[in-house]
Amino acid sequence: MEKTTPEKVQLLIIGSGPAGYTAAIYAARANLKPVLYQGIQPGGQLTITTEVENYPGFPDGVQGPELMVHFEKQAQRMGADLRYGLATAVDFSKHPFQVTIDEEKQVEADAVIIATGASAKWLGLESEQRLNGYGVSACAVCDGFFFRGKEVAIVGAGDTAAEEALYLSKLCSTVHMIVRRDEMRASRIMQDRVKATPNIKIYWNSVTDEILGEKSVDAVRIHNTQTDEKIEIPVKGFFVAIGHQPNSDIFKGQLDMDEAGYLKTVPGSAKTNIEGVFASGDVQDKIYRQAVTAAGSGCMAALDAERFLSEKGLH
Ligand SMILES: Cc1cc2nc3c(=O)[nH]c(=O)nc-3n(C[C@H](O)[C@H](O)[C@H](O)COP(=O)(O)OP(=O)(O)OC[C@H]3O[C@@H](n4cnc5c(N)ncnc54)[C@H](O)[C@@H]3O)c2cc1C
Repeated sequence: MEKTTPEKVQLLIIGSGPAGYTAAIYAARANLKPVLYQGIQPGGQLTITTEVENYPGFPDGVQGPELMVHFEKQAQRMGADLRYGLATAVDFSKHPFQVTIDEEKQVEADAVIIATGASAKWLGLESEQRLNGYGVSACAVCDGFFFRGKEVAIVGAGDTAAEEALYLSKLCSTVHMIVRRDEMRASRIMQDRVKATPNIKIYWNSVTDEILGEKSVDAVRIHNTQTDEKIEIPVKGFFVAIGHQPNSDIFKGQLDMDEAGYLKTVPGSAKTNIEGVFASGDVQDKIYRQAVTAAGSGCMAALDAERFLSEKGLH
């Protein structure tokens, strides 16, 4: 495709979740005239959830999509230039940095903030998609509270699944943990903790066939791959904890990342291995993965970018 004449911007923000919008609010208020590309999911992950009860400032909770409209409006009101478009390629080897939007438009930026987030991995069942936000969740810390005193199921066998099962065991009456093989991938210490928790019941060699329920989750049907035995477990919540995929493919070979693709930042900052390129939110955070931590790191990225641009005499 024919390349267009590059547009020069001071600060380019890639992504429109809590991290990207917060970075845009801070950057606009610092007069960095940020241009933000929203990607294919304007508003980010919270637009696919219902009630958010743990974002501070909303004593009665808030719907995820509504919260993200607030973020967007605030960024807009501060003067951020919000645009539809997907960053499809980057070249951080020269300065100003080169970013391609929608495989066509060229943007040159003095500084870049990456806030492209991560996506939860799902099992791929129709019922999982249909009941998402109605009992099906990929985040125990976000949604466990809704199932206090109830029975829930969780799928997964890694450290995150073990951690989430333990978290749920403190809130829920029983946690039915569905494990595909006859062992867990989680570290020995996490496995021991899970096995020693009386209200976590493990189903080895088991896979989920279907999540049952019309408007909300009523039960889960699993089958044992060794015996072919099928059972239905009555549960109100179904948690998928089989991992997350950071949206970092376009930065491969240019930015340091771990083996799972999470961008590496200098601890206590949003700095990547390339001076002037910053990363914030879930794309660089495999531990906390919360809207408030993403927003906090978006703020850090904007302040780091402002300092970088000032020091280089670019602002
Ligand atoms: C179902 C669900 C429920 C949740 N509930 C809660 C909750 O109750 N409380 C809580 O604190 N957290 C919750 N979370 C977690 C929370 O949503 C995330 O931690 C948070 O959204 C991460 O913010 P982020 O800005 O890093 O990225 P995301 O929200 O993941 O946003 C990423 C953004 O980047 C854009 N993007 C990606 N690639 C590109 C590209 N190449 N070019 C341009 N743009 C791009 C996307 O379009 C999107 O706008 C939930 C998550 C899910 C999935």
